Amino acid sequence: MKLDVVVIGTGQAGVPLAARLADAGRRVVIAERKALGGTCVNYGCTPTKTMVASAQAAHAARTAARLGVRSAPVRVDLAAVVDRKDRLVRCWRDGVSERLAKAGRRLRLVRGHARFAGPREVEIAGRRYQADVVVVNAGARPAVPRLPGLEAIPWLDNARIMELRRVPRHLLVLGGGYIGCEFAQMFRRFGARVTVVDEAERLLSMEEPEASEALADVFRGEGIHLMMKARATAVTKTARGITVSLRGGRQITGSHLLVAVGRRPNTDDLGAEAAGIRLDAKGYIEVDERYRTSAEGVYAVGDCTPGPQFTHAAWDDHRILFDLLHGRGTRTRNDRLVPITAFTDPQVARIGLTEREARAHGFAPEVATRPFARIARAIETDRTAGAMKILLDPKTEKVLGASIVGAEAGELIHIFAPVIAGGLSARSMVDPEYVHPTFAEGVQSLVMSLPRYSIE
Ligand SMILES: Cc1cc2nc3c(=O)[nH]c(=O)nc-3n(C[C@H](O)[C@H](O)[C@H](O)COP(=O)(O)OP(=O)(O)OC[C@H]3O[C@@H](n4cnc5c(N)ncnc54)[C@H](O)[C@@H]3O)c2cc1C
Repeated sequence: MKLDVVVIGTGQAGVPLAARLADAGRRVVIAERKALGGTCVNYGCTPTKTMVASAQAAHAARTAARLGVRSAPVRVDLAAVVDRKDRLVRCWRDGVSERLAKAGRRLRLVRGHARFAGPREVEIAGRRYQADVVVVNAGARPAVPRLPGLEAIPWLDNARIMELRRVPRHLLVLGGGYIGCEFAQMFRRFGARVTVVDEAERLLSMEEPEASEALADVFRGEGIHLMMKARATAVTKTARGITVSLRGGRQITGSHLLVAVGRRPNTDDLGAEAAGIRLDAKGYIEVDERYRTSAEGVYAVGDCTPGPQFTHAAWDDHRILFDLLHGRGTRTRNDRLVPITAFTDPQVARIGLTEREARAHGFAPEVATRPFARIARAIETDRTAGAMKILLDPKTEKVLGASIVGAEAGELIHIFAPVIAGGLSARSMVDPEYVHPTFAEGVQSLVMSLPRYSIE
């Protein structure tokens, strides 16, 4: 069958792109082999943040006495937490279905695994489709480490852990990145004993060392056991549960094991060679700044390409590619700013460069930091953990990067976005008035603690 566009995957880029292309008059087929909406809706952002909210409620109830409020012992009903999560996921998934239906007859959803049969030719559920344009939005899945014994035990990934209906006695979390940290704290607050095992020196090792340190302090304070610089070498099922052996002879035993050691692109069964699509050494689809793969007319977006793996990045891919396909727009995938947030408590957020990256790029940044403990709002609300950090290019007064670990960091980080993206001077963050008492005031104070903006 001949079409204008085939989109592979109903992820965060594929759905809006397919719908908008159909709205613009193209005949589009979108293929999906699993649940509509992809990772974010079904196994990523939506379910995790829904469950993080339950964990947060348990924590607030347990620590309410600090604010003079007494509550009965807190009990987490994990089955009810999971049911609530499932309801929300269903709701978002239905929303995806409605969006596709709203695009009308020009857009057809075909259920099944899509595989390239040749250049710009895709086979889905036994039928072949040729198109002028093929967009691959195949996403990624959990990476499985080569760990002897893993295949013999019922380990958990990010999807399976969110189906547990009883709180584990002792959860071992392999991996201290964003996903591992969010689940570790969530399950600790649900009442499990939790141990994080990571070969890195610190949690969230891509982030500023100060951020890792602040988060580790909070984790330890909540009773999460951190085993850093610990390389897992094997895993076995024993009478006491699941035992992870570590380099150097140590062992740790728990009742459940979550593996959160990274992601792997869904490209191994895509038939990339048949279409002439080049993959990099890790299996990601190589693309240029305009999302073009090595195959004429084939584009790739989202997590199946190298780069930051976030929903907002995938969604932004669709915006940029839609414009490029219509010969308009000036943005490319290389010249954009991707903020990040780990939804731990406190949240860890960053935009732009870390200090190490800034120095590696040849900058000699002016650096200021400010603890949350000096923000009025943080003191009043008893959320004083964390700190903010800003990097300034002294030559241009432009902000090179900012990192926040603290309450509402994921919201606050956006204050920097228009300043950095618009190439404004950091002074533009000092002069406006900020509402008192807000966390945002702390951002102004942070910038003012750079000597050039100090009024002391
Ligand atoms: C636990 C967890 C928490 C996360 N939290 C956040 C967060 O808070 N914020 C954030 O920004 N990001 C978060 N992410 C990352 C985010 O979910 C992803 O970056 C985002 O979903 C990527 O979207 P995508 O469109 O590239 O791919 P996906 O959403 O993965 O969609 C790809 C789709 O393609 C389908 N597919 C694949 N191959 C084929 C094929 N051959 N044929 C047919 N269909 C196919 C898949 O079934 C899938 O539905 C989280 C991820 C995880 C795992």
